[in-house]
Amino acid sequence: MSQQVIYYFDNNATTRVAPEVVEAMLPFLHEHWGNPSSVYGFGKKVAKHIDDARAKVAALINAEPHEIIFTSCGTESNNSALHSALITHPHKRHIVTTAVEHSANIKFGNHLKKLGYEVTFLPVESDGGIDLHLLEKNIRPDTAIVSVMWANNETGVLFPIEEIAALCQGKGVPFHTDAVQVPGKLKIDVKELGVNYLSLSAHKLHAPKGIGMLYVRHHTRYAPYIIGGGQEHGRRGGTENVPYIVGFGRAAQLALAHLGDENIRIRALRDKLENGILSRIPGTVRNGAKEPRLPNTSNLCFAGVEAESILSLLDHEGICVSSGSACTSGSLDPSHVLVAMGCDPQRARGSVRFSLGVYNTESEVDHVLKHLPPIITKLRSASPKASGISAHA
Ligand SMILES: *Cc1c(COP(=O)(O)O)cnc(C)c1O
Repeated sequence: MSQQVIYYFDNNATTRVAPEVVEAMLPFLHEHWGNPSSVYGFGKKVAKHIDDARAKVAALINAEPHEIIFTSCGTESNNSALHSALITHPHKRHIVTTAVEHSANIKFGNHLKKLGYEVTFLPVESDGGIDLHLLEKNIRPDTAIVSVMWANNETGVLFPIEEIAALCQGKGVPFHTDAVQVPGKLKIDVKELGVNYLSLSAHKLHAPKGIGMLYVRHHTRYAPYIIGGGQEHGRRGGTENVPYIVGFGRAAQLALAHLGDENIRIRALRDKLENGILSRIPGTVRNGAKEPRLPNTSNLCFAGVEAESILSLLDHEGICVSSGSACTSGSLDPSHVLVAMGCDPQRARGSVRFSLGVYNTESEVDHVLKHLPPIITKLRSASPKASGISAHA
């Protein structure tokens, strides 16, 4: 199989598995394949490596190891947090979340509504920000949990999680945050944040797909979502996914290391890409506030063109980007995030997300800046809707 050179700018969708992570995992596929719950040493010694990975993941977010539950993905972590709050507060049947969450929350919320729960999807402002007074007003005596994402996967916009956590604590309501987009990009300190639950997914930080974790703060009530064996201290049934847990631990270590210089480098590359596109291509605007925002994400709208067409012409040049979230691509529905920000559907359909990562280089950014302007010019000249936007303003 010949390998085409790819220019990967879709790190918010998934990330390349780091070679160090593969290396850490292999012994648990080849040699150490015993069941960690076994009584004999061959299996039992594997449990030590789970403990070790748990400590590494805990260190990434400054939690205690016993506060970490390994799950199968970010989606399971989010679903589990909401489920747990509802089960442990059976008389409370209301949830507060936002209109711009990942579909893991939006669709689970809609599912809960069908089961008879009440779910408030808070609106956002045109820059993607949240109105904390409105959030506060929507917390009721029967609210079981508030779940608000930390960093938006489509726009990179950050919500003030520490303030929201304090607000919820003041009202005695548990607070969950989907922090899947945050590790390796911003410092995470659950002790400072004061959240009750926090979700991560390993494939967004250079480990494989199919492993995630839910942080559950000490003394926060927890009811398992997957019920079976006594794994994860009875909080998540199912034989542990040992190689992936070990890989997650290694990736957590690397993500901590990336927080310093590596992040400054990625932010500079993102800014070069964003400023380069905005200055070279007229009729282009950023979706969402410039700050506070993730250092790796840029969501841009190209007036008068369909993102799907841009994506396929960029694909010819080996450039991988996305429109909206991966879960909704393939459908022509505009992104629910951009629509919630009040973006008209036409503009939302012309929006493209660039998300950088540790493997991106400056020459890759130059490749995009070389190929994107003629692609937009070509598409606009073919589209009657785009007449009036001059190619060289
Ligand atoms: C990717 C993502 C998820 C889902 O994680 P999976 O492991 O793919 O289930 C949830 N929330 C956000 C913000 C994400 O970016």
